[in-house]
Amino acid sequence: MKKRLILNGLGTVNDITFGNVLVYKNSVALQIYNITEDDLPLEYERLDRAIEESKEQIIELKKTVDSSICNILDMHIIMLYDKLILDEVKEFTSENLKNIEYAYSEVMDKYSKKIASVPNASLADRFSDIDDIKNRVLSTLLKASTVEKHSIPKGTVIVAKNITPTDVLQFIHKGVYGFIIETGGTTSHAAILTRAYSVPSIFGVHNITNLCKTDDKVIVNSYESSLIINPDSNDLGNYKSIKENVLKEKKEYEYLAKEDAITLDNTKIKILANIDLPEESENVLSYGASGVGLYRTEFLYLYTDNTNEPILPTEEVQFEAYKRIALNLGDADFVIRTLDLGGDKVLPTIDESFIKDENPFLGWRAIRFCLANKDIFKTQLRAILRASVYSDISIMLPMVNFTSEIVATKEYMEECKEELLKEGMSFSNNIKFGVLIETPAAALTLDSLAKHVDFFSIGSNDLIQYTLACDRTNERVNYLYDPLHMSVMRLLKSIVDSASEYNRPLTLCGELAGSAEYIPVLLGLGLRSLSMSSVSIPMIKKIIRSLKLEDSEILVKDILETETLAEAQKLLNNFLKEKLPFIKKA
Ligand code: PEP
Ligand code: MG
Repeated sequence: MKKRLILNGLGTVNDITFGNVLVYKNSVALQIYNITEDDLPLEYERLDRAIEESKEQIIELKKTVDSSICNILDMHIIMLYDKLILDEVKEFTSENLKNIEYAYSEVMDKYSKKIASVPNASLADRFSDIDDIKNRVLSTLLKASTVEKHSIPKGTVIVAKNITPTDVLQFIHKGVYGFIIETGGTTSHAAILTRAYSVPSIFGVHNITNLCKTDDKVIVNSYESSLIINPDSNDLGNYKSIKENVLKEKKEYEYLAKEDAITLDNTKIKILANIDLPEESENVLSYGASGVGLYRTEFLYLYTDNTNEPILPTEEVQFEAYKRIALNLGDADFVIRTLDLGGDKVLPTIDESFIKDENPFLGWRAIRFCLANKDIFKTQLRAILRASVYSDISIMLPMVNFTSEIVATKEYMEECKEELLKEGMSFSNNIKFGVLIETPAAALTLDSLAKHVDFFSIGSNDLIQYTLACDRTNERVNYLYDPLHMSVMRLLKSIVDSASEYNRPLTLCGELAGSAEYIPVLLGLGLRSLSMSSVSIPMIKKIIRSLKLEDSEILVKDILETETLAEAQKLLNNFLKEKLPFIKKA
């Protein structure tokens, strides 16, 4: 009988699943140690064996993938046996008397860097090949178990130390049932994706990769932020009844999606959807959104990389994506957020020095990256302009702190328009221009920003992170990440007041907008437009329809007068118990 274990973490969706664990190791822990001359033959033999084994793995993999990927895998086999590389690895080992995996890693990194220094964009995807080959050989040498994302058995629940947004997308497209991850908060982009796709997941589960093994059974109760490894028959009975409840709720939500988000005292709240991929735009209206308030374009870039398209999507690829969403949405709002790379969204295969920061959330992120990479940015702006003839598109810039960032973007836009005119391409002249308020700096200078934009949107995920100096992806400080902290409350209030003073429409599009328990706070603060993951919309409508605006305003007034976070939390909890007793996570 395997040991039953109950653990807790941070659930991302109100759903539950049951499946088989697959422990995913996405990077290989490299050890460095000294060897003697006598060890050399054995080290060389280990390398030769690892190369043979890696070839066998690739041949097996080829049987499960389509022909475009087979060509790449054939090339991997050729690169595996590259004599120049293998000779150099052996030479490095004998000269430095270090273990063979260290030598292999050093030599492969050297070639990776060499390619990086060649100014040829089409060589960029060689980085990923070299990295892939390096990881494969190293994991074979270290006998680490890597997982082929190409062949995931049905019913798999991925368990990993950490996971990138790109990994999440790939696994979701392979049909995994759930994720259990050691690190990460609920507003990390990996977590946001699991929510967008309604895949029951739990982040921040301490030591999970050591507490379970591949093929263990697991119940992922994302609804209650808990999981059970090797559940017994009672647990399975419970699982079934919770699942039935979830299905019942889903039925109720189908009805709610069609209703207006209107308070008991008749204030209508605008509800928009956040989307991460073009295909999501097919369903947003049926979930009850009146448009898209945030399209995170960077996932197009990350995803493209993994389907072996060019790493940076061309203007044409982007144009098609934006056009597809525009056509799906018709007359509805469509806000395209320009590229927000950096932070926890890095292009996995680009040379690390290009994009790696010591403090990624404080570094070369979002608008900063775009303004410094004019070609990349203009490619996106041109694509957006071209798609603007298909619907009412608005452009929104992420992480703006300076009015000069808006001015520079507008200049790029003008250049793009001139170019397009010369090329005989059409675009709309009525594109609205907005910025995300994601830093205290932006929040406190809304008056200056207002002169340059048509609308604002609050990126609360980042605003909270930057206000409280609390990494949104770090589960160890998640307990500090609290929207009720007076600093956040005051900033939100001042943003709402300034936006209204300068007559600029304001939306809130962070995860807070889809968090049931904070809706009374947001309405009480004066927000009248919210953008969230589509799956959250019906529940949020239910809450708005159960609230009186007047009560929410009194709640917020009282919260703003508290002296401690605990008092504020107590006020909200009491309010929820009294007015919204059906909320699960009160
Ligand atoms: C935010 O920061 O709240 C936001 C909407 O942007 P993202 O989550 O993509 O950083
Ligand atoms: Mg943000």
